[in-house]
Amino acid sequence: MADCIFCKIINGDFGTEFVHENEYAVVFKDINPKADIHLLVVPKLHVESLNELNDENLLGKLMMTVKEVTQKLGIKSYKTLINTGKEAGQEVFHLHIHILSGKMKF
Ligand code: 5GP
Ligand code: ZN
Repeated sequence: MADCIFCKIINGDFGTEFVHENEYAVVFKDINPKADIHLLVVPKLHVESLNELNDENLLGKLMMTVKEVTQKLGIKSYKTLINTGKEAGQEVFHLHIHILSGKMKF
């Protein structure tokens, strides 16, 4: 998607460092962290939100990516969060899973 900020990040347009990457997703640090550790798991495929997702396999791959990256970084306790829709706080309309760990700032 041409004007999607996460598609641009995935494309390497901003030189964002990926803390993890696999066939399905990239993981990078949230620019405005709401916890000591705040990562975003972002599918390489552009899907606007959970409401537009039709592929249950992709959701499974994304959750397994959460497990992969937390294990890799030694993060044992964390929350996962998906905001779906503007009223729920979704700001970037490219599906993503938040990983939050440590002291929360909300
Ligand atoms: P949402 O509110 O859509 O669930 O979450 C979007 C998240 O993306 C926010 O926590 C916001 O701080 C983060 N974000 C927005 N733009 C950028 C960016 O350009 N780079 C990074 N690393 N994070 C971003
Ligand atoms: Zn996108």
